Amino acid sequence: MRTNFPITAFNDIETPFYYYDMDLLRETLATALREAAKYEGFHIHYAVKANFNPVILAAVREQGMGADCVSGGEVKAAIEAGIPADKVVFAGVGKTDKEIIFSIEKGIFCFNVESVPEIEAIERLCAERGKVAKIAIRINPNVGAHTHANITTGLAENKFGINYEQLDEVLDFIGGCPHIELIGLHFHIGSQILVMDDFIALCGRVNELQKLLQESRGLVLPHINVGGGLGIRYDAPDEYDVPDFALYFATYAKHLHLQKGQQLHFELGRSLVGQCGSLITRVTYVKKGTCKQFAIVDAGMNDLVRPAMYGAYHKIENLTSQKPCEEYDVVGPICESSDVFCKDMELPETERGDIFAIRSAGAYGEAMAFGYNCRELPKARYSDTI
Ligand SMILES: *Cc1c(COP(=O)(O)O)cnc(C)c1O
Repeated sequence: MRTNFPITAFNDIETPFYYYDMDLLRETLATALREAAKYEGFHIHYAVKANFNPVILAAVREQGMGADCVSGGEVKAAIEAGIPADKVVFAGVGKTDKEIIFSIEKGIFCFNVESVPEIEAIERLCAERGKVAKIAIRINPNVGAHTHANITTGLAENKFGINYEQLDEVLDFIGGCPHIELIGLHFHIGSQILVMDDFIALCGRVNELQKLLQESRGLVLPHINVGGGLGIRYDAPDEYDVPDFALYFATYAKHLHLQKGQQLHFELGRSLVGQCGSLITRVTYVKKGTCKQFAIVDAGMNDLVRPAMYGAYHKIENLTSQKPCEEYDVVGPICESSDVFCKDMELPETERGDIFAIRSAGAYGEAMAFGYNCRELPKARYSDTI
């Protein structure tokens, strides 16, 4: 087993809290960077929305990665963490004037734009300030990722990106914007993708589109950004603690045909931070129903919403008990029937006070926490300083 939980220290800490294995985080970031560096022109931007905890952002900055942001707040968090503005990209369908102005003034690397009205807004706000903004067009590649419906983003029916049919109109429009410099194309097909075929399909679309743009307009852009989406093994967090970045980057190197000098950007979130985090929680009660028994824990859906929101599976371990297993529904205290972490889970016989680790919670865990039921937001602890 990879993660060694400091269970004695946990006994004295108020629960629930997120626990981050900082060695695993650093190893994961370093592995991703090392594998990407095998190919010329590959760059990684960390997708801040997966986890914007400042300690995590500091680790990302130390390794020298850029940042992918989806709100003005994330742009601010990335810059405050010391990530250079010229390594920050900003995507999102609903960028407000305030967010755009902030990003223009900070001099971010690139806006990944998602509609004509947004381009219009950036042009106007840049003109007023005598600035030029670099943009990439987010293309909707109409590639369906084999993942949960709520986290596929690359289909024509999704709100994200610009469809192929509208691309000519968008390019013509950009031609009339003196304060905008088009530098690239951006794609992002979804999240928690474990089948390389989905990325290969994306590569095929990018190649087609590059060929088309070159033939019809003589257009070769210096930057291609293929987004993120590499998944993690929620079922086996110890066996697959570091995702297979070698395979991921090799897949792109093989299937994506870059033009001479073109730079390829990746925006990885979950795969970089998912496995280093666990939500640590105490069993408040064990309740025996007529047909089920419940382990009622002190963490709720407000601390980790993925099971309630996506039906997501997280492995749960009882760190206290080593008794023979029984079946439990592990549930939180929130007044919602969806406040369930896992149904019918085999766990060692559990008692009030036992400590559970809800694994693989480093991505979209703490970042999605909320205060429903007047709950305090979960705190965080780190293996370096516990
Ligand atoms: C969420 C998001 C990412 C990161 O996705 P992961 O699945 O966490 O790797 C990358 N790019 C964009 C535009 C995103 O919205």
